[in-house]
Amino acid sequence: MTSRAKTNSIPFHRPSVGEEEVRAVAEVLRGGMLTMGPRTQEFEKRFAEFVGAGHAVGVSSGTAALHLALEAAGIRPGDEVVMPTTTFVATAQAALYLGARPVFCDVDGVTINMDPDDARKRITPATRAIVPVHLGGIPCEMHEILEMARSRNLRVIEDAAHALPSRYDGKRIGSISELTCFSFYATKTLTTGEGGMITTDSARAAARMRLMRLHAIERTSTGSSSGVEAWNYAVREAGYKYNFTDIQAALGIAQLAKCEAMREARCRIAARYSRAFGELDFMETPVIRANCETSWHLYILRLNLERLRAGRDAIISRMAERGVGCSVHFIPLHLHDYFQRTLRYRVGDFPRAETEFRRCVSLPIYPNLCDEDVDSVIEAVKETLAEFYIPRVASVRA
Ligand SMILES: *Cc1c(COP(=O)(O)O)cnc(C)c1O
Repeated sequence: MTSRAKTNSIPFHRPSVGEEEVRAVAEVLRGGMLTMGPRTQEFEKRFAEFVGAGHAVGVSSGTAALHLALEAAGIRPGDEVVMPTTTFVATAQAALYLGARPVFCDVDGVTINMDPDDARKRITPATRAIVPVHLGGIPCEMHEILEMARSRNLRVIEDAAHALPSRYDGKRIGSISELTCFSFYATKTLTTGEGGMITTDSARAAARMRLMRLHAIERTSTGSSSGVEAWNYAVREAGYKYNFTDIQAALGIAQLAKCEAMREARCRIAARYSRAFGELDFMETPVIRANCETSWHLYILRLNLERLRAGRDAIISRMAERGVGCSVHFIPLHLHDYFQRTLRYRVGDFPRAETEFRRCVSLPIYPNLCDEDVDSVIEAVKETLAEFYIPRVASVRA
């Protein structure tokens, strides 16, 4: 049994890259323009159209996207930026790069996204921005968050590293607030190996980010690419080296073309998981509100630990023994030593985030997970949890 499962082991993630991507990259390699050029422009245009934004700016990573978006929003040293504690560390590090202070807030126990009421309590006169993170692709409560930002004059920068393609009230994530940041890291729903994108309707913000992503270099008016002064440029700021490449863009264009189909494949897997696990009293399946659509970047199961004789870590180890790779999203940032040391956070500061962290397990979900693999994951989850299950005791006897 175990040995069979092991030989067919199912990794937590596998990228969905096919011959189209290989061909597209080969074409760029043969063409001679390896760094940022016409393919990047084409990808940006298609991406902006896809999410319904005025502009899209390609950058070297999702972290770079967050950094440039916060910079374009005018975040400066000493400013406070409110964000959920349940996120990847990049969300906080982007604020730190600018000398700003990440201020964590708790999550709600249904979506594990930023709890707008708790976020509101963290706002001080130094708060300048709020960074909602759409965990696993499930959109945050954007009405409440945008209203809070409007009434207190805060900027909103969405961390949408998981939310391509997700919808909130029928609108694609990327078209809702002022600045939205995507990641094309290897495990994300659209990958260019490494890469990121910022979408915005603000021509001014887009121009600022385009300037800052490549050393704040501006071509001078006479410096057309074929003209006499093609070599000439001016440096406007202390910019960054965050540009995209045409190799990444070739991958991105091919991936964007199948982005919806890949979401549908993940949807079908999620539906099978939820059907298989929905009735079991030792776990809870993801809840998607009626006005939301998730990208299904992650499928996060929550264990009801009071019905189980083992903790989450032991359960993940057992799943690995059965050949199924699982993961955890995320270790709340306030539990990391660095943030405890520098920002004085403590265990117990965000009780709901800690509760959800202790009981969350992310299952494999990606387009090339075949039906048999999904069956194997379901079987492994059921067998593992049956092993640790504490049956309910029949209470009253006649
Ligand atoms: C992946 C991720 C990022 C960072 O993206 P990179 O492309 O890896 O820099 C930011 N926020 C969240 C929530 C992520 O999962």
